[in-house]
Amino acid sequence: MKASQFFVSTLKEAPADAEVVSHKLMMRAGMIKRLGAGIYNYMPMGLRVIRKVEAIIREEMNRAGAVELLMPVVQPAELWQETGRFDKMGPELLRVKDRHGRDFIIQPTSEEVMTDIARQELRSYKQLPKNFYHIQTKFRDERRPRFGIMRGREFTMKDAYSFDRDVATATLSYQNMYAAYQRIFGRFGLEFRAVAADTGAIGGELSHEFQVIADTGEDAIVYCPTSDYAANIELAEGLALLAARGAATQDLTLSPTPGKSTCEDVAALLGLPLTQTVKSLVLASDELDQDGAIVKTTIWLLLLRGDHDLNEVKAGKIEGLKNGFRFATAAEIEEHFGSKPGYLGPIKLLKPVKVVADRTVALMSDFVCGANQADHHFTGANWGRDLPEPDLVADIRNVVAGDPSPDGKGVLAIQRGIEVGHVFLLGTKYSKDMNATFLDENGKPQHMVMGCYGIGVTRILGAAIEQNHDERGIIWPEAIAPFSVVVCPIGMDRSEEVKAAAQQLHDDLQALGVDVLLDDRGERPGAMFADWELVGVPHRVVISDRGLKEGQVEYQGRRDAQATKLGLAEVLDLLK
Ligand code: ATP
Ligand code: MG
Ligand code: MG
Ligand code: MG
Repeated sequence: MKASQFFVSTLKEAPADAEVVSHKLMMRAGMIKRLGAGIYNYMPMGLRVIRKVEAIIREEMNRAGAVELLMPVVQPAELWQETGRFDKMGPELLRVKDRHGRDFIIQPTSEEVMTDIARQELRSYKQLPKNFYHIQTKFRDERRPRFGIMRGREFTMKDAYSFDRDVATATLSYQNMYAAYQRIFGRFGLEFRAVAADTGAIGGELSHEFQVIADTGEDAIVYCPTSDYAANIELAEGLALLAARGAATQDLTLSPTPGKSTCEDVAALLGLPLTQTVKSLVLASDELDQDGAIVKTTIWLLLLRGDHDLNEVKAGKIEGLKNGFRFATAAEIEEHFGSKPGYLGPIKLLKPVKVVADRTVALMSDFVCGANQADHHFTGANWGRDLPEPDLVADIRNVVAGDPSPDGKGVLAIQRGIEVGHVFLLGTKYSKDMNATFLDENGKPQHMVMGCYGIGVTRILGAAIEQNHDERGIIWPEAIAPFSVVVCPIGMDRSEEVKAAAQQLHDDLQALGVDVLLDDRGERPGAMFADWELVGVPHRVVISDRGLKEGQVEYQGRRDAQATKLGLAEVLDLLK
């Protein structure tokens, strides 16, 4: 490939809205171009990287026995109504209407459509297990699109869905995908870690995130360097807190005004003053008798992860909180999540706080308090109790480096990461909602046990750059670089020898299957080198008259401090 035929467009300065290094460098290297908030054109240089990422994913997914198909970006709302997600999902789900006024969504993920295919196509146990995947455009109307294509609104995801006859075989499918992900991220040449993750919102049973290690990552991960323990911080802290609280709970029964148990009622019953806050939710959920009288009110404590405003809660963004702002009852939540503590999306459900005696109250700070009815909540309430008792301070302390590992095999370390992949054992949530069954050996219909597996294709680019760059630009890992080698002739317009040698080296490398670019743009050496260091091509070969006289060219790896003089044959040998 010749640079003059290709499209190279670099910038000296990054645009002002680029906060993180990967966003800056991708813009400067001409990989992406902003079209709107969280919406980018993938320019030719960036698209080459995306295609390489996709190729590796495809190869490994196919190797793992998954089958590729392609589901539409625009999906009818009916399927999403079957699972309730059309109403529940909140503003991240982009809803559109067609000319007939029918509802559609732009897919943020494809469980519904996939399950619809499965319930029609997979009828017998003999067809299971099956794993389908696609690499497709997604749209999520992110509250804060940022960091370029790392948190875009439109992005590309590889999502796969497995269907099994029972939990035991579904677990094997899950492990198979887990292993495929290890290979995929290994092949990208990135430092990454698989961590246990919460399973709440999607109703699943087993879940891991694949995190690319980078100081600028939005996520925190906790691991033990001397054992296999690794979890994301939400899971680690939730479990630590539960363990610390342990048996310190008891039942509390409140009898506030039916349907109007506001945080003020709760506060009054507990004899607590209220002040300002924003970080968590306390939910009061009433159990009513047949006449609609409250028999029991359970106080639920949810700690918010990230910033959520109550409008999102009201819009039903948080699963489990059905019908807008009516909070799920204890029974509903238990039914939905099983009896074990789980998480509601980005919100941590810390178990029904059956006890709101002093100990629990001491755990509450910075929260939003709500009730069973719209408009009976407060954003910004704080249980301004006396300072927690000393032993409770330990309970609510964050998990920090040096804490004992829960497996007892060492101490914990904390790193920051970028979530690039996520595997879930879903169980039968979707197959039950959508009645996806197969016939077992006895001809009896059974719900399929599902798993889902995502990789943020376009996010990988940002994550790779966050991990691999220097002051001069991007340093692509070989496997996903837009070009492996750039040949830079000096004075090509003046010297036929240089021109011929550069062309020859380009042709020879190309014949060897090397992804090589010949920079024939006629740029000055300084500008040419700066461009390719910015773009991050792993290998550079400089051809000059002076070098050729000695039968040599200058080779420099992107991470090398200096160039090395090599013969042409040696360079071919090195790069093939
Ligand atoms: P995040 O926690 O970053 O919002 P998520 O948990 O919502 O991600 P999943 O639903 O697990 O994302 O989707 C699978 C993968 O898709 C993620 O692991 C991530 O790599 C990618 N992804 C999710 N949201 C975005 C986005 N807004 N832009 C780019 N990639 C994304
Ligand atoms: Mg998200
Ligand atoms: Mg996540
Ligand atoms: Mg995720």
